[in-house]
Amino acid sequence: MILGEAKAFRAWADEQVARGRRIGLVPTMGYLHEGHLSLARLARERADVVAASVFVNPTQFGPKEDFSRYPRDLEGDVAKLAKAGVEVVFAPAPGELYPPGFDTYVVPERLASVLCGASRPGHFRGVCTVVHLLFRVSRCHVAVFGEKDYQQVTIIRRMVRDLWLDVDVVSAPIVREPDGLAMSSRNVYLSPDERKDALALSRALGAVERAFCAGEREAAKLVSLARGVIGEARSARVDYVEIVDADELTPLARIERPAVCALAVLVGKTRLIDNRKLVA
Ligand code: AMP
Repeated sequence: MILGEAKAFRAWADEQVARGRRIGLVPTMGYLHEGHLSLARLARERADVVAASVFVNPTQFGPKEDFSRYPRDLEGDVAKLAKAGVEVVFAPAPGELYPPGFDTYVVPERLASVLCGASRPGHFRGVCTVVHLLFRVSRCHVAVFGEKDYQQVTIIRRMVRDLWLDVDVVSAPIVREPDGLAMSSRNVYLSPDERKDALALSRALGAVERAFCAGEREAAKLVSLARGVIGEARSARVDYVEIVDADELTPLARIERPAVCALAVLVGKTRLIDNRKLVA
């Protein structure tokens, strides 16, 4: 079933709650790939009924970003989601979630000031606002997010804790193409040469992980290793490569507690992100 109206989605949710069912939610921006579907399958395991949203959220895009050309394929998405066990697809028009006069946002602070938040001002304000809206409309008990967007799921966990939202946030591992590229709806923008260069992200993270496993703990050394690998790809330009505390996202000089190596790279005009946990 596909629903476009927030009121209809809420009515569906009310009925599930009345029947004592546990609702799972998978928020997406559509143009779905295996990474998204892995979240849907995980939600199926954790909930009695699963809803997914397909909504390219305007408030999380900057004025010069790809909102209008973001890839869309609602029909294909609905078919894939049904196969993955999703009962309801919520695909609203922007005005359903942001009616005229909409004036109330959820604004994360410190966690949103680093990594992608530093390059994309306002991005996580848009993300938190729409996720909060989706949580409220769907009345979900559990929501599944991908670790591909590590900062995003970290910020959402903190929002849920800080605002007492009563949603169980579950994170799912990064799903990759056979050659290592993290799946992303934006990979469709890559030319054949850029697609090859995009492998630099997972290669760089592989090099970092190997050095870490061999005992290297100096963040600066690991970062320069990653930058070296990315530097070999002609169309790739580093936005950031950082090693941060896994929960607080604060930069680390030495890795002495669970950490994440996170990176964002422009491949041609396409901004790609990837990350790897570094846990001894
Ligand atoms: P998006 O449609 O890009 O907003 O992503 C929707 C959800 O899918 C987010 O929770 C993402 O972290 C997750 N996701 C996107 N790509 C992947 C991937 N390759 N592996 C796992 N989860 C992913």
